[in-house]
Parts: sequence; C-alpha cells; structure tokens
Amino acid sequence: MSVLVTGGAGFIGSHLCEALLKKGLSVICLDNFDPFYDPQLKHANLELCHKNEKFSLINGDILDKNQLENVFKTNAVDAVFHLAALAGVRPSIQNPARYAHVNVVGTTNLLELAQRYNVKKCLLASTSSIYGNNTKVPFSESDLVNEPVSPYAASKRAAELMAYNMHHLYGFPVACIRFFTVYGPRQRPEMAIHKFTRMIDQGERIPVFNHGHCLRDYTYIDDIIQGVLGVYDTDFSFDIINLGESQTISTLDLITLIEEQLGKKARLDLLPAQDGDVEQTFADISKAKKDYGYDPKFSVRDGFSLFMAWYQRIKK
Ligand code: NAD
Repeated sequence: MSVLVTGGAGFIGSHLCEALLKKGLSVICLDNFDPFYDPQLKHANLELCHKNEKFSLINGDILDKNQLENVFKTNAVDAVFHLAALAGVRPSIQNPARYAHVNVVGTTNLLELAQRYNVKKCLLASTSSIYGNNTKVPFSESDLVNEPVSPYAASKRAAELMAYNMHHLYGFPVACIRFFTVYGPRQRPEMAIHKFTRMIDQGERIPVFNHGHCLRDYTYIDDIIQGVLGVYDTDFSFDIINLGESQTISTLDLITLIEEQLGKKARLDLLPAQDGDVEQTFADISKAKKDYGYDPKFSVRDGFSLFMAWYQRIKK
C-alpha cells in the first residue's frame, strides 16, 4: 500500500514519513524544497528514510498540477497526508498572495486529484492559528473561526473549507488536523523554541513580543505523530481535530526553561505585540482522545530536554 506525504521533507513531514515506513507502508514523499529555510536541512531530514527501500522522493510542487496528476497516474496511492504549505505567521503578512496560492490553490489541486484517483482518505495539516484571538479557552473544534489574524491563518482555514466542500460534493473522507505549535528535533529554525535556544546559546539579543506574555500550547513531535497515526487508523468522513498537549507556558517562562538547560542567560528586548501573533493557544483535545486514541505524553520540560539533546548534537 502506498501513501503520499506532501511536504514530507519538512520538520513534521520527515518524522511522519519515518513513522509510516515503520508501519510497513510504502511512502512517496513529494516536496519542492522551498527556500523558506535552508533546503539542505530538509535533505538531511530524509537521511533515515532514504535507507528504506519502500521510500521514494519526488522533487515536486503542489502547484504543478500536471506533475501532481502524474504521481497519482503512476502510483496506486491509498492515502494522502498533506503537509506541504508555506508555514510561518509573520512572513505571511509580507506576502499574502503567495500564501493563498500555495496553501489554498495547492491544497485544492491535491484534493481534486486525490478524489479523482480514488484515494481512500486524506489527512490535511491545519493549525491552531485558525482560532485567532479566541478568548474562550481551551480552543475547541466547534468554536467559531471567522476572524483570522494573519494571511497564514486565513489560508489554512480556506484550505479546510475546500476540504469540506470536497467531502460534501463527493463524499471524499478528509480529516483536518489542527496542530498546536509543534517542536522537537528538526524543528524549523525560525520557530520560537529553536530560534531562542540558538540565539541565547550564541549570546544574541532576543526580541520578545507582547513583553513575553503570550501563552502557547507547545506539542512535542512524538505526540503529534502518535495523534496523526491514530487519525489515519480510524474511519472518518469529514472531521476537524485538535492535536496539542492542552498545557500552556508563557514566552518568559519558556525562556527561563531554555536558560536553565543551556546554562546561559538570555538578553531580552521586551517589545509590544506584533501584528499576526495571537495572545494564546490552548487546545481542547477531548475529541482526539475519545475518537482517535490520542494519548499525549510530553510536558514541555520533558520534550524540551529531548529537543536540547538534539540541538547540542547538530550544532557541533
Ligand atoms: P516545514 O516548512 O518544515 O514543512 C513544509 C514542507 O512543505 C517543506 O519541506 C516545504 O519545502 C514543503 N513545501 C512548501 N511549499 C510546497 C509546494 N508548493 N509544493 C511542495 N512542497 C512544498 O513546516 P512544518 O513545521 O513541518 O509544518 C508542516 C505542516 O504543518 C504545514 O502544513 C504547517 O502549516 C502545519 N503546521 C505546523 C505547525 C508547527 O508548529 N510546525 C503548527 C501548525 C500547523
């Protein structure tokens, strides 16, 4: 059985490819090695996968519909894990059209072809950013999400709506999985935990927005992968599912944790809130637990120790 993982060379995608190979599945990874961050890091992410003969890599773009169609024509794809996207909240404000193009048109290309080529199910990477400045916590899948505060969030919500429509018209099974800030080995270099660790380690000053009072539900990568596999192994028609730890930590407390584990003091520039950033994220994960066997295990302290061990290894 073949599964297609788009964005499979990225942070979450590469962990997912490894987990799917471990399950004995044949994995086709499609990624365009977008230069949002160093493509060499993405090639390195796939080192382990390349050792497995059931793994194949296509250097391809979800915006290239002919190439995408060829993937479905020449492979019997059973399921699609769609993670390819332009991620990153702040850069999306500088380039909303590009985010809309990749995240909405690219996703629509994929959904249309997957449905047409009789793929059995599609799992789509969505995001907690969709909740915007929701004041009701924890964030539940039934909350209204009509007020995105960044083009990234808006594009991801639009992708969910295209997925719903594909389900409505054709009965195509799609699960939209809203990830809450994911971290761990291979985390994208511009994301807070990775960036702060690197900058504190190198003695650089850190700009800390909203004076460090933002609250985030940080989710360890192994928990995310367990949750995604739980969804894959369950029957669904259309669903939206939160995956988080359902615990929050402020930016200032996170920085203290990094200082403790690095044994170095941070130099902070405390700044006002930035456009696009939400004040807090906090996942209600009761649906994922009840319907999909989600069983998250990592406190941010435990998960951060594992991130740190990886960081110390790769920086040498
Ligand atoms: P990532 O940037 O490491 O991975 C995304 C991958 O998609 C990259 O390898 C990139 O090269 C590829 N890609 C981008 N545009 C493409 C295109 N047009 N065609 C083919 N491939 C393309 O990001 P990540 O952190 O691993 O995120 C994976 C998914 O999860 C994304 O959809 C993201 O929006 C979502 N997500 C991530 C987080 C998080 O905390 N990391 C949180 C919520 C949602």
